[in-house]
Amino acid sequence: MYDNIKPLTKKQLNTLKSKLLSDKESLVFSEKDTDLSLSKPEGSDEVEQSITDYTNSHLLRFRNREAFYAKKIEKALKKFDLEEYGKCDDCGSWIKFERLMARPTAELCIFCKEEAERDESNNFIARQSKSLGKVVDLTGMMA
Ligand SMILES: [Zn+2]
Repeated sequence: MYDNIKPLTKKQLNTLKSKLLSDKESLVFSEKDTDLSLSKPEGSDEVEQSITDYTNSHLLRFRNREAFYAKKIEKALKKFDLEEYGKCDDCGSWIKFERLMARPTAELCIFCKEEAERDESNNFIARQSKSLGKVVDLTGMMA
């Protein structure tokens, strides 16, 4: 069922690579901004300090997310060197160009991605019904 998806053309690969590279550049820029904002102001009182802490933890979270994304970009760029870019990590079929344009760091084809997400929500439902079972038990004990 994946046969209708053709390998990416050279032109498409180049488009995606430059997209990844510009994404990477924009990450580096915002990291510099973050470093500037992280410097503590002199003689700040307690309230200002807690605001600074709050802002810093937000920035840190943001930076962690960026670092995570940066890693994904690096991984994707490495795949270009190995000529593996655009292939699904799971089933090895080609990922659609449109999908990669929307998410150049995508590692799974849409079929495998949907399957992975279905598994996740199934686990969630399983957890939910488990805790519901506990509630029912408690009610039974109280009655
Ligand atoms: Zn796949």
